[in-house]
This record gives sequence, structure tokens and C-alpha cells, in this order.
Amino acid sequence: MVPTPRPARPAERSHAVVIGAGLAGLTAARALADTYERVTVLDRDTLPAEPAPRRGVPQSRQLHVLLARGAQALEELFPGFLEELLAAGATRADTQGEAHWYLDGHLLRPAPSGVISYGASRPRVEHHVRARVAALPGVVIRQGVEALGPVATSDRGRVTGVRVRPRSGGAGETGGAGEETIPADLVVDASGRGSRAPAWLEELGYHRPRQTRVRADVVYVTRHFRREPHHIGGRSGVALVPFPGLPRGGAIVSEREDRFAVVLFGLLGEEPPVDEAGMLAYAESLPGPDVAEVLRTAEPLDEPVRMRYPASARRHYEKLDRHLGGFLVTGDALCSFNPTYGQGMTAAAQQAVVLRALLAREPREPREPRERGRDADGLPRRFFRAAAKVVDTPWLLAAGGDLRFPGAEGRRGPADGLLDRYLTRYRAAASVDPVLGRTFLSVAHMLQPPARLMSPGHVLRVLRAPRTGGPAGAES
Ligand SMILES: Cc1cc2nc3c(=O)[nH]c(=O)nc-3n(C[C@H](O)[C@H](O)[C@H](O)COP(=O)(O)OP(=O)(O)OC[C@H]3O[C@@H](n4cnc5c(N)ncnc54)[C@H](O)[C@@H]3O)c2cc1C
Repeated sequence: MVPTPRPARPAERSHAVVIGAGLAGLTAARALADTYERVTVLDRDTLPAEPAPRRGVPQSRQLHVLLARGAQALEELFPGFLEELLAAGATRADTQGEAHWYLDGHLLRPAPSGVISYGASRPRVEHHVRARVAALPGVVIRQGVEALGPVATSDRGRVTGVRVRPRSGGAGETGGAGEETIPADLVVDASGRGSRAPAWLEELGYHRPRQTRVRADVVYVTRHFRREPHHIGGRSGVALVPFPGLPRGGAIVSEREDRFAVVLFGLLGEEPPVDEAGMLAYAESLPGPDVAEVLRTAEPLDEPVRMRYPASARRHYEKLDRHLGGFLVTGDALCSFNPTYGQGMTAAAQQAVVLRALLAREPREPREPRERGRDADGLPRRFFRAAAKVVDTPWLLAAGGDLRFPGAEGRRGPADGLLDRYLTRYRAAASVDPVLGRTFLSVAHMLQPPARLMSPGHVLRVLRAPRTGGPAGAES
């Protein structure tokens, strides 16, 4: 078969550098590989040959679930990916049919939903994505290399490269000669929550993006257990979602047929303990029995690991009036969400999908007069706008959900109280009406927009459902 020639590239698309080989960096590299001659992905860590947690991704020891929309996005970027993940031992489950969900203390009525999520450890997902990216023509992954910031043209209008140095203690591949500059036409910062991009831009004379934070003070404690067929009625997972009055929760995900990841978490001052008796007591205080059952009866496979996550943080690059040409930011570096909603990998993969679509379009001159002369290529403006749309929904769900808690710091809108009352009633009604449950999970998994929860048909169902009382344990 004659290979299809790749489309001709404009001269400035010869080399792209991605900072960070996490989920966001790897998926961004996938997007770039279609249109850039060469793509180099840098990571300060030494990357493990087998799926294993690593220092640069501290959350890699914590329970992760791949939401339905994220699974679709990864499949779009890497056809055959999900089968590969399953073949490596990951699990898939109908989120409503094969898992228990407790919303405001009510058990959501189980029923087949078609909302399919995937259970696999964060290192396992990254491992398979990295293998696919490393196999792409023109892509090189360099490990043990720390990015120090972009280098720009003398007028500071666009990037010309990125400064790097070998990471002390890492397997640096820069020849051990200290700092160097890697020339690049495009630099993508995917360095995670600790991104220094705002400071880098400021050093080059640009404004820092405005940041929105919603403080939730999440504390996670994850431990793994041997899964046996009788556990939790043979179900694949459990989610006990916190609510005002009970700002603590838990979840179980089958990372493999024979292995559960179990997390206990607390918000706003609630902290799960890490000793066995304390963990069990904490699990027993939750509205469903499932997590406590596993802690009581399953064989632990490791020690519990705790992690703190202070606040969801969104950086509004899309609102900047001037962009550094050829410089993008993606993934957690752009927006990081309260992890209890499980959205980060999905949002990162979706941003890569939109980046690929933008690059596939014919390169064009900036259309709007105010863009001319400001961006060297208009790509940052277009990307940040598109990425903001991707992030809007998960942000609304995560930050909006957190603002239900009186102690969560963040700006509340005038309609929030009314919406909150409706959604409280919705969650209760979903314990009897499986259609409401399906829509709730489709929205949580980003398959449908949140507005779907307020469609006239859904409002009627909520109003008609027998009242089951307010949230268990909530103060009235
Ligand atoms: C406790 C917890 C639980 C979570 N659970 C879920 C879940 O269930 N589902 C879900 O979808 N998401 C979850 N997330 C979010 C998810 O882990 C991330 O959103 C996702 O991994 C994408 O992250 P990223 O690639 O943007 O950043 P990261 O995963 O943080 O990767 C950043 C990479 O950049 C590298 N790096 C950083 N600085 C530099 C530098 N200067 N030079 C070179 N390399 C650098 C780091 O070594 C790292 O490899 C959770 C997060 C937390 C904290």
C-alpha cells in the first residue's frame, strides 16, 4: 500500500517542544505529531519502564478513574487504546449498572446506562499512552531534563526555544554539560499544577493570567486491596460523594480484576486517618457500607498513602490581551480540578483533541484586526479560547459542586442557591428514577452538558418523584 503523504508543513512547524510527559504532555505530543516535523517531550523525572508511580506525579499513587468522555478522547487520539488497556488488565464498567453511587447519602438507583468508565492506575494509563507516543514518527521523549523557561525572539514576540538543564540525580541526556537551549517553533507547557508559565511570561514582559481558585482542602488516602468476586456484591466500583453536612467520602475502583484501589477523602478540615482502625471507623461513618466492607474483609496489598490537594485552580490564559507567539499551556497547568470529580485526565485529553483539530486547519493570518501584530501566529489565542470551552464544563461541575459547602472559598453567583436546591432534590429523585441517574452520570462523565439536568423533561421527573427527604446527615 502506498503511504498517504503527510500534508505539507509551513516552515514554522518544524520542531515543537512539550514540557512534561504526564497525560497532558503526552496527549499534546500526539496532537502535534500530525503537523510538526519533530516533537520533543521533556520530563524532569526518570521515566519508569513499567507502570509505576514517580516523583514528578505525586498523585500517581492515588486512586484514578478514567471518565467515559476521557476514554473516548484517548481512543480518538490513539485508535485501539482502550482494547490495549483492557488487555493489560484494566477494567471497564457501566457506571450506573455495575457501581454503587451515593449522592447526598441516597443510593442512586442502579440500572444499565451506557456510561462506560475505565478502571486502571494512573501509572498504567500513562504507561500505555507513553508507549503509543514514543512510537510516533518524529517524536522523542527526553527524560531527566528540567525546563527552565521559554526563550523568545529579540522583540519577545514569539518563542524560539526552551532552556533546559539536566535534573540533578536524574538520567540527564543533555551530555551532562549543564544548561542548553533547545530550538523550537512551538513550546507547550504541560508541567502540571506547579507550572511556572505565569512567571515565565512575566519575565518576558507579558501579563500573568488571572487565576480563579476554589479552596476545598481535599485530603486523599488511597490503599490497594485484593479483589475477590464476592466483594461489594461483585460490583466493579463505588462512589460515596460528600455533601454539606458530611464533607467526607470514599470510592472504590477495580484497577484490575483482582485489585481494588480504595480511597477515603475529606474536605475542608476533614482528614481521613491512615491507621487501619481509624480508616475503618471513617469508612463506617459514610452513608453506604461498601468501602467499610472492603476495608474489613479484603487483604491489603500495600500501605495507605496520603496526599493533600488545597484548591481547584483555573488560569485564564484565554483572557490575556497579548500572547507570546508559539507558547501554549495545557492540562493541569491550565486548569486543575478537585480530584474527587475524576476529571483531570479527561480534560487533558480533550484539550489535545482540540489542539489537533486547530492545527489540522489551514494556517491562516489572524482574522481580527486587534489580533494582528499581537500574536506571531494567532495559535495561542485560538487554542486558549478552545481550551477554555473544554474546561468550562468540568470547572462548572467541580468548582460549582465545591461551592455547595459553606466553608469552600470562592465566588458564588446570585442563582447558585436556587440551582443548589433543585440539584439537591434531583439527587434524591435519582434514587428512585433511573433516568435521572443516567443523565446525572452522563453529565458527570462529560458526555452531556450540565444544562441537560435542567431540561423540562428532567424538571418534571424531579418534581414528580416521591420525596425521599433531604441529604442524610445534612443540617436543615
Ligand atoms: C489525588 C488526585 C487524584 C486524581 N484522580 C483523578 C481521577 O480519578 N481521574 C482523572 O482523570 N484525574 C485525576 N486526577 C488528575 C490527574 O492526575 C491529572 O489531571 C492528569 O494526570 C493530567 O495531569 P498533567 O499531565 O497536566 O500534569 P502531571 O500529571 O502533574 O504531569 C506533569 C509532568 O510534568 C513534569 N514536569 C513538571 N515540571 C517540569 C519541568 N520544569 N521540566 C520538565 N518536566 C516537568 C512532571 O515530572 C510530570 O511528569 C487526580 C489528581 C489528584 C491530585
